[in-house]
Amino acid sequence: MGKRVRVNRGPLAEIDLSALQYNLETVKRIIDKRPVIAVVKADAYGHGSVEIARRLVALGVIHLAVAYTGEAKQLRESGVAAEIIVLFDRSDIEDYFTYGLVPVVQDKETAREFSLEAVKRGRGIRVHMKIDTGMGRIGFIPEQAVSDAVEISGWEGIELAGIMSHFSEADLADRSYALHQLKLFNDIKSAIAARIGRPLMSHIANSAAVLSFKDALMDAVRPGLLLYGSSPFQDSFGLRPLMTVKTRVLAVRSLCAGTPVSYGRTFVAKNDCRIAVVPVGYADGYNRLFSNNGEMLVRGRRAPVAGRVCMDVTMLDVTGIGGVCEGDEVVILGGQGNETITAADLAARIGTIPYEILTSLGGRSRRVYIN
Ligand SMILES: *Cc1c(COP(=O)(O)O)cnc(C)c1O
Repeated sequence: MGKRVRVNRGPLAEIDLSALQYNLETVKRIIDKRPVIAVVKADAYGHGSVEIARRLVALGVIHLAVAYTGEAKQLRESGVAAEIIVLFDRSDIEDYFTYGLVPVVQDKETAREFSLEAVKRGRGIRVHMKIDTGMGRIGFIPEQAVSDAVEISGWEGIELAGIMSHFSEADLADRSYALHQLKLFNDIKSAIAARIGRPLMSHIANSAAVLSFKDALMDAVRPGLLLYGSSPFQDSFGLRPLMTVKTRVLAVRSLCAGTPVSYGRTFVAKNDCRIAVVPVGYADGYNRLFSNNGEMLVRGRRAPVAGRVCMDVTMLDVTGIGGVCEGDEVVILGGQGNETITAADLAARIGTIPYEILTSLGGRSRRVYIN
Protein backbone atom coordinates (compact mmCIF):
# COMPACT_ATOMS: atom_id res chain seq x y z
CA MET A 1 0.00 0.00 0.00
CA GLY A 2 1.24 3.46 -0.87
CA LYS A 3 1.70 6.15 1.68
CA ARG A 4 -1.41 8.25 2.20
CA VAL A 5 -0.86 11.74 0.88
CA ARG A 6 -2.58 14.46 2.82
CA VAL A 7 -3.70 17.37 0.77
CA ASN A 8 -3.62 20.61 2.68
CA ARG A 9 -6.25 22.82 1.26
CA GLY A 10 -8.84 25.24 2.44
CA PRO A 11 -9.17 27.20 5.64
CA LEU A 12 -8.85 26.09 9.22
CA ALA A 13 -11.92 25.85 11.45
CA GLU A 14 -11.20 26.32 15.13
CA ILE A 15 -13.96 24.76 17.21
CA ASP A 16 -14.24 26.04 20.76
CA LEU A 17 -15.74 23.26 22.88
CA SER A 18 -16.04 25.45 25.96
CA ALA A 19 -18.61 27.49 24.02
CA LEU A 20 -20.56 24.26 23.49
CA GLN A 21 -20.72 23.79 27.23
CA TYR A 22 -21.80 27.39 27.69
CA ASN A 23 -24.61 27.07 25.12
CA LEU A 24 -25.78 23.78 26.61
CA GLU A 25 -25.97 25.42 30.02
CA THR A 26 -28.00 28.24 28.48
CA VAL A 27 -30.45 25.65 27.13
CA LYS A 28 -30.64 23.87 30.48
CA ARG A 29 -31.57 27.07 32.28
CA ILE A 30 -34.50 27.51 29.90
CA ILE A 31 -35.78 23.94 29.87
CA ASP A 32 -35.47 23.15 33.55
CA LYS A 33 -35.12 19.37 34.06
CA ARG A 34 -36.27 18.28 30.62
CA PRO A 35 -33.86 16.13 28.62
CA VAL A 36 -32.00 17.55 25.63
CA ILE A 37 -31.99 15.59 22.39
CA ALA A 38 -28.90 17.19 20.87
CA VAL A 39 -29.08 17.36 17.08
CA VAL A 40 -25.68 16.46 15.60
CA LYS A 41 -26.77 15.76 12.02
CA ALA A 42 -24.74 16.99 9.04
CA ASP A 43 -21.50 16.41 10.91
CA ALA A 44 -22.83 18.51 13.79
CA TYR A 45 -23.65 21.41 11.45
CA GLY A 46 -20.09 21.33 10.13
CA HIS A 47 -18.43 21.19 13.57
CA GLY A 48 -17.50 17.47 13.49
CA SER A 49 -20.09 15.12 14.95
CA VAL A 50 -17.71 12.75 16.73
CA GLU A 51 -15.95 15.44 18.77
CA ILE A 52 -19.18 17.33 19.43
CA ALA A 53 -21.07 14.19 20.47
CA ARG A 54 -18.24 13.08 22.77
CA ARG A 55 -18.19 16.42 24.51
CA LEU A 56 -21.99 16.55 24.81
CA VAL A 57 -22.03 13.09 26.35
CA ALA A 58 -19.25 14.11 28.75
CA LEU A 59 -21.48 17.05 29.71
CA GLY A 60 -24.33 14.70 30.58
CA VAL A 61 -26.39 14.63 27.36
CA ILE A 62 -27.94 11.18 26.91
CA HIS A 63 -29.95 11.61 23.69
CA LEU A 64 -28.48 12.54 20.31
CA ALA A 65 -30.21 12.90 16.94
CA VAL A 66 -28.83 12.47 13.43
CA ALA A 67 -30.48 12.46 10.01
CA TYR A 68 -29.18 9.19 8.58
CA THR A 69 -28.02 5.83 9.90
CA GLY A 70 -24.57 6.34 8.33
CA GLU A 71 -24.06 9.30 10.67
CA ALA A 72 -25.09 7.18 13.65
CA LYS A 73 -22.79 4.38 12.56
CA GLN A 74 -19.84 6.76 12.52
CA LEU A 75 -20.65 7.83 16.08
CA ARG A 76 -20.98 4.25 17.30
CA GLU A 77 -17.68 3.29 15.65
CA SER A 78 -16.08 6.19 17.49
CA GLY A 79 -17.32 4.84 20.78
CA VAL A 80 -20.33 7.10 21.36
CA ALA A 81 -22.72 5.02 23.45
CA ALA A 82 -25.58 7.50 24.02
CA GLU A 83 -29.04 6.91 22.61
CA ILE A 84 -29.12 8.00 18.96
CA ILE A 85 -32.42 8.92 17.31
CA VAL A 86 -32.32 8.75 13.51
CA LEU A 87 -34.61 11.43 12.11
CA PHE A 88 -35.03 10.51 8.47
CA ASP A 89 -33.42 7.31 7.27
CA ARG A 90 -35.48 4.20 6.72
CA SER A 91 -33.33 2.43 4.16
CA ASP A 92 -31.50 -0.06 6.30
CA ILE A 93 -33.67 -1.58 8.99
CA GLU A 94 -30.87 -3.91 10.10
CA ASP A 95 -28.53 -1.06 11.04
CA TYR A 96 -30.95 0.04 13.74
CA PHE A 97 -30.54 -3.31 15.46
CA THR A 98 -26.84 -3.71 14.79
CA TYR A 99 -25.99 -0.28 16.17
CA GLY A 100 -28.77 0.02 18.72
CA LEU A 101 -30.43 3.07 17.15
CA VAL A 102 -33.86 4.58 17.70
CA PRO A 103 -35.79 5.06 14.46
CA VAL A 104 -38.30 7.81 13.84
CA VAL A 105 -41.09 5.93 12.06
CA GLN A 106 -43.01 7.94 9.53
CA ASP A 107 -45.49 5.44 8.16
CA LYS A 108 -47.08 2.10 8.98
CA GLU A 109 -45.16 0.09 6.41
CA THR A 110 -41.83 1.00 7.97
CA ALA A 111 -43.16 0.33 11.46
CA ARG A 112 -44.25 -3.11 10.22
CA GLU A 113 -40.75 -3.81 8.91
CA PHE A 114 -39.26 -2.91 12.28
CA SER A 115 -41.73 -5.20 14.00
CA LEU A 116 -40.91 -8.12 11.70
CA GLU A 117 -37.16 -7.62 12.13
CA ALA A 118 -37.56 -7.36 15.91
CA VAL A 119 -39.52 -10.60 16.03
CA LYS A 120 -36.93 -12.29 13.83
CA ARG A 121 -34.16 -11.21 16.19
CA GLY A 122 -36.16 -11.96 19.29
CA ARG A 123 -35.73 -8.49 20.74
CA GLY A 124 -37.76 -5.33 20.89
CA ILE A 125 -36.98 -1.94 19.41
CA ARG A 126 -37.83 1.49 20.79
CA VAL A 127 -39.28 3.82 18.17
CA HIS A 128 -40.50 7.39 18.02
CA MET A 129 -43.39 8.28 15.78
CA LYS A 130 -43.36 11.39 13.62
CA ILE A 131 -46.57 13.35 13.17
CA ASP A 132 -46.81 15.78 10.27
CA THR A 133 -48.60 18.67 11.94
CA GLY A 134 -47.98 21.06 9.07
CA MET A 135 -44.39 20.86 7.89
CA GLY A 136 -45.56 18.90 4.87
CA ARG A 137 -42.43 16.82 4.76
CA ILE A 138 -42.74 13.43 6.43
CA GLY A 139 -44.81 11.77 9.11
CA PHE A 140 -48.21 10.34 9.90
CA ILE A 141 -51.09 12.56 8.86
CA PRO A 142 -52.99 13.96 11.84
CA GLU A 143 -56.35 12.39 10.93
CA GLN A 144 -54.96 8.89 11.26
CA ALA A 145 -52.15 9.40 13.73
CA VAL A 146 -54.09 8.29 16.80
CA SER A 147 -55.50 5.04 15.39
CA ASP A 148 -52.16 4.28 13.71
CA ALA A 149 -50.30 4.84 16.99
CA VAL A 150 -52.65 2.52 18.82
CA GLU A 151 -52.23 -0.15 16.16
CA ILE A 152 -48.44 0.14 15.93
CA SER A 153 -47.96 0.13 19.69
CA GLY A 154 -49.68 -3.25 19.75
CA TRP A 155 -47.32 -4.85 17.27
CA GLU A 156 -44.91 -7.41 18.59
CA GLY A 157 -41.38 -6.12 19.08
CA ILE A 158 -42.36 -2.46 18.85
CA GLU A 159 -41.98 -0.28 21.89
CA LEU A 160 -43.57 3.05 21.05
CA ALA A 161 -41.47 5.37 23.21
CA GLY A 162 -42.15 8.82 21.85
CA ILE A 163 -44.00 11.04 19.43
CA MET A 164 -42.59 14.06 17.73
CA SER A 165 -43.29 16.77 15.24
CA HIS A 166 -41.40 19.66 13.67
CA PHE A 167 -42.20 23.34 13.16
CA SER A 168 -42.44 24.64 9.63
CA GLU A 169 -41.16 28.15 10.39
CA ALA A 170 -37.61 27.46 11.55
CA ASP A 171 -37.48 30.94 13.08
CA LEU A 172 -41.11 30.87 14.25
CA ALA A 173 -41.72 34.24 12.60
CA ASP A 174 -45.34 33.31 11.96
CA ARG A 175 -46.40 32.34 15.45
CA SER A 176 -50.02 31.66 14.51
CA TYR A 177 -49.06 28.75 12.31
CA ALA A 178 -46.77 27.35 15.01
CA LEU A 179 -49.63 27.59 17.50
CA HIS A 180 -51.82 25.66 15.13
CA GLN A 181 -49.16 22.96 14.78
CA LEU A 182 -48.66 22.81 18.54
CA LYS A 183 -52.39 22.47 19.25
CA LEU A 184 -52.69 19.66 16.75
CA PHE A 185 -49.70 17.92 18.30
CA ASN A 186 -51.03 18.32 21.85
CA ASP A 187 -54.45 16.95 20.88
CA ILE A 188 -52.88 13.92 19.21
CA LYS A 189 -50.55 13.36 22.13
CA SER A 190 -53.42 13.36 24.65
CA ALA A 191 -55.62 11.16 22.50
CA ILE A 192 -52.86 8.57 22.07
CA ALA A 193 -52.04 8.60 25.78
CA ALA A 194 -55.72 8.05 26.61
CA ARG A 195 -56.04 5.17 24.16
CA ILE A 196 -52.85 3.29 25.03
CA GLY A 197 -53.02 4.10 28.72
CA ARG A 198 -49.60 5.65 29.16
CA PRO A 199 -47.90 8.88 28.17
CA LEU A 200 -45.25 9.00 25.43
CA MET A 201 -42.19 11.22 25.49
CA SER A 202 -43.24 14.07 23.21
CA HIS A 203 -40.95 16.59 21.54
CA ILE A 204 -41.35 19.34 18.97
CA ALA A 205 -39.03 22.20 20.00
CA ASN A 206 -36.18 23.17 17.69
CA SER A 207 -33.73 25.97 18.62
CA ALA A 208 -36.20 28.76 17.87
CA ALA A 209 -38.85 27.17 20.09
CA VAL A 210 -36.36 26.56 22.91
CA LEU A 211 -35.40 30.24 22.84
CA SER A 212 -38.84 31.76 22.46
CA PHE A 213 -41.77 29.41 22.81
CA LYS A 214 -42.21 28.06 26.33
CA ASP A 215 -45.47 26.23 25.59
CA ALA A 216 -43.68 24.10 23.01
CA LEU A 217 -41.00 22.67 25.31
CA MET A 218 -43.11 19.53 26.01
CA ASP A 219 -41.20 16.56 27.53
CA ALA A 220 -37.88 17.02 25.72
CA VAL A 221 -36.30 19.53 23.32
CA ARG A 222 -34.42 18.99 20.07
CA PRO A 223 -32.05 21.90 19.49
CA GLY A 224 -29.32 21.96 16.89
CA LEU A 225 -28.29 25.43 15.77
CA LEU A 226 -28.23 27.08 19.18
CA LEU A 227 -25.81 24.49 20.58
CA TYR A 228 -23.36 25.73 17.96
CA GLY A 229 -23.84 29.28 19.20
CA SER A 230 -25.98 30.67 16.44
CA SER A 231 -29.49 32.00 16.94
CA PRO A 232 -32.28 31.80 14.38
CA PHE A 233 -33.32 35.33 15.46
CA GLN A 234 -31.77 38.79 15.18
CA ASP A 235 -31.14 38.56 18.92
CA SER A 236 -28.09 36.39 19.64
CA PHE A 237 -29.48 35.45 23.09
CA GLY A 238 -25.93 35.68 24.36
CA LEU A 239 -25.00 32.38 22.70
CA ARG A 240 -21.33 31.81 21.96
CA PRO A 241 -20.37 30.64 18.46
CA LEU A 242 -18.07 27.62 18.45
CA MET A 243 -16.55 28.07 15.05
CA THR A 244 -13.89 30.46 13.78
CA VAL A 245 -12.82 29.92 10.18
CA LYS A 246 -9.50 31.40 9.22
CA THR A 247 -6.68 31.25 6.74
CA ARG A 248 -3.62 33.33 5.77
CA VAL A 249 -2.97 35.82 3.01
CA LEU A 250 -1.38 34.05 0.05
CA ALA A 251 -0.09 37.16 -1.71
CA VAL A 252 -0.51 40.93 -1.75
CA ARG A 253 -0.39 42.87 -4.99
CA SER A 254 -0.41 46.56 -5.80
CA LEU A 255 -2.55 47.35 -8.81
CA CYS A 256 -2.81 50.53 -10.85
CA ALA A 257 -6.13 52.30 -11.34
CA GLY A 258 -8.14 50.60 -14.09
CA THR A 259 -6.86 47.08 -13.45
CA PRO A 260 -9.60 44.43 -13.40
CA VAL A 261 -9.68 41.72 -10.74
CA SER A 262 -10.91 38.14 -11.15
CA TYR A 263 -13.30 36.46 -13.60
CA GLY A 264 -15.56 38.64 -15.67
CA ARG A 265 -13.79 41.88 -14.66
CA THR A 266 -16.64 42.72 -12.28
CA PHE A 267 -14.20 44.67 -10.08
CA VAL A 268 -12.02 47.32 -11.62
CA ALA A 269 -9.66 49.32 -9.40
CA LYS A 270 -10.86 52.95 -9.36
CA ASN A 271 -7.59 54.17 -7.90
CA ASP A 272 -4.28 52.50 -7.28
CA CYS A 273 -5.07 49.74 -4.84
CA ARG A 274 -3.73 46.83 -2.85
CA ILE A 275 -5.32 43.44 -3.30
CA ALA A 276 -4.81 40.49 -0.96
CA VAL A 277 -5.23 37.04 -2.46
CA VAL A 278 -6.79 34.64 0.05
CA PRO A 279 -6.71 30.85 -0.34
CA VAL A 280 -10.41 30.12 0.12
CA GLY A 281 -12.98 29.74 -2.61
CA TYR A 282 -16.36 28.28 -3.30
CA ALA A 283 -14.88 24.78 -3.31
CA ASP A 284 -14.16 25.42 0.38
CA GLY A 285 -17.73 26.45 1.09
CA TYR A 286 -17.22 30.20 0.63
CA ASN A 287 -20.27 30.92 -1.47
CA ARG A 288 -19.80 32.52 -4.88
CA LEU A 289 -22.58 34.95 -3.99
CA PHE A 290 -20.00 36.71 -1.79
CA SER A 291 -18.47 38.07 -5.03
CA ASN A 292 -18.14 41.88 -4.58
CA ASN A 293 -20.35 41.40 -1.55
CA GLY A 294 -18.58 39.65 1.32
CA GLU A 295 -16.04 40.87 3.84
CA MET A 296 -13.21 39.18 5.72
CA LEU A 297 -11.16 40.40 8.67
CA VAL A 298 -7.51 41.31 8.24
CA ARG A 299 -5.47 43.11 10.90
CA GLY A 300 -8.69 43.58 12.88
CA ARG A 301 -10.40 45.45 10.04
CA ARG A 302 -13.08 44.58 7.51
CA ALA A 303 -11.78 44.04 3.98
CA PRO A 304 -14.32 43.81 1.14
CA VAL A 305 -14.22 41.00 -1.42
CA ALA A 306 -12.99 42.36 -4.75
CA GLY A 307 -14.41 40.70 -7.84
CA ARG A 308 -15.73 37.19 -8.18
CA VAL A 309 -15.03 34.45 -5.67
CA CYS A 310 -13.07 31.76 -7.52
CA MET A 311 -13.02 28.03 -6.89
CA ASP A 312 -9.86 28.15 -4.78
CA VAL A 313 -9.11 31.80 -4.06
CA THR A 314 -10.80 35.08 -3.25
CA MET A 315 -9.38 38.60 -3.56
CA LEU A 316 -9.80 41.30 -0.92
CA ASP A 317 -9.39 45.04 -1.34
CA VAL A 318 -7.00 45.92 1.49
CA THR A 319 -6.12 49.38 0.21
CA GLY A 320 -7.52 51.04 3.31
CA ILE A 321 -5.77 48.69 5.72
CA GLY A 322 -2.16 49.55 6.35
CA GLY A 323 0.65 47.03 6.24
CA VAL A 324 -1.18 43.90 5.08
CA CYS A 325 1.35 41.33 3.99
CA GLU A 326 1.67 37.74 2.91
CA GLY A 327 0.99 35.35 5.76
CA ASP A 328 -1.33 37.68 7.70
CA GLU A 329 -4.22 35.93 9.38
CA VAL A 330 -7.59 36.31 7.60
CA VAL A 331 -10.81 35.56 9.46
CA ILE A 332 -13.69 34.43 7.27
CA LEU A 333 -16.11 33.63 10.11
CA GLY A 334 -15.62 34.70 13.71
CA GLY A 335 -13.76 37.45 15.49
CA GLN A 336 -10.45 39.25 15.11
CA GLY A 337 -9.51 42.27 17.20
CA ASN A 338 -12.71 44.19 17.88
CA GLU A 339 -14.49 42.99 14.76
CA THR A 340 -16.69 39.91 14.38
CA ILE A 341 -18.33 38.28 11.40
CA THR A 342 -21.15 35.96 12.49
CA ALA A 343 -22.86 33.19 10.55
CA ALA A 344 -25.99 35.34 10.66
CA ASP A 345 -24.09 38.29 9.07
CA LEU A 346 -22.82 36.11 6.27
CA ALA A 347 -26.22 34.49 5.76
CA ALA A 348 -27.98 37.86 5.50
CA ARG A 349 -25.59 39.01 2.78
CA ILE A 350 -26.40 36.17 0.44
CA GLY A 351 -30.03 35.52 1.32
CA THR A 352 -29.58 32.29 3.23
CA ILE A 353 -29.64 31.07 6.83
CA PRO A 354 -26.78 30.50 9.31
CA TYR A 355 -27.32 26.73 9.04
CA GLU A 356 -26.07 26.78 5.46
CA ILE A 357 -23.09 29.00 6.29
CA LEU A 358 -21.96 26.67 9.10
CA THR A 359 -22.40 23.43 7.18
CA SER A 360 -20.72 24.87 4.06
CA LEU A 361 -17.68 26.45 5.70
CA GLY A 362 -17.28 24.02 8.59
CA GLY A 363 -17.89 20.99 6.45
CA ARG A 364 -14.96 21.69 4.20
CA SER A 365 -12.37 23.17 6.54
CA ARG A 366 -9.66 21.33 8.42
CA ARG A 367 -10.74 21.34 12.03
CA VAL A 368 -8.92 21.85 15.27
CA TYR A 369 -10.58 21.71 18.67
CA ILE A 370 -9.81 24.01 21.54
CA ASN A 371 -11.20 24.02 25.04
C1 LIG B 1 -32.56 19.74 12.17
C2 LIG B 1 -33.70 19.39 13.02
C3 LIG B 1 -33.81 19.90 14.33
C4 LIG B 1 -32.90 20.99 14.89
O1 LIG B 1 -33.30 22.24 14.38
P1 LIG B 1 -32.55 23.60 14.83
O2 LIG B 1 -33.33 24.66 14.17
O3 LIG B 1 -31.16 23.49 14.33
O4 LIG B 1 -32.60 23.65 16.30
C5 LIG B 1 -34.83 19.42 15.13
N1 LIG B 1 -35.70 18.49 14.66
C6 LIG B 1 -35.64 18.00 13.40
C7 LIG B 1 -36.63 17.00 12.95
C8 LIG B 1 -34.65 18.43 12.55
O5 LIG B 1 -34.59 17.96 11.30
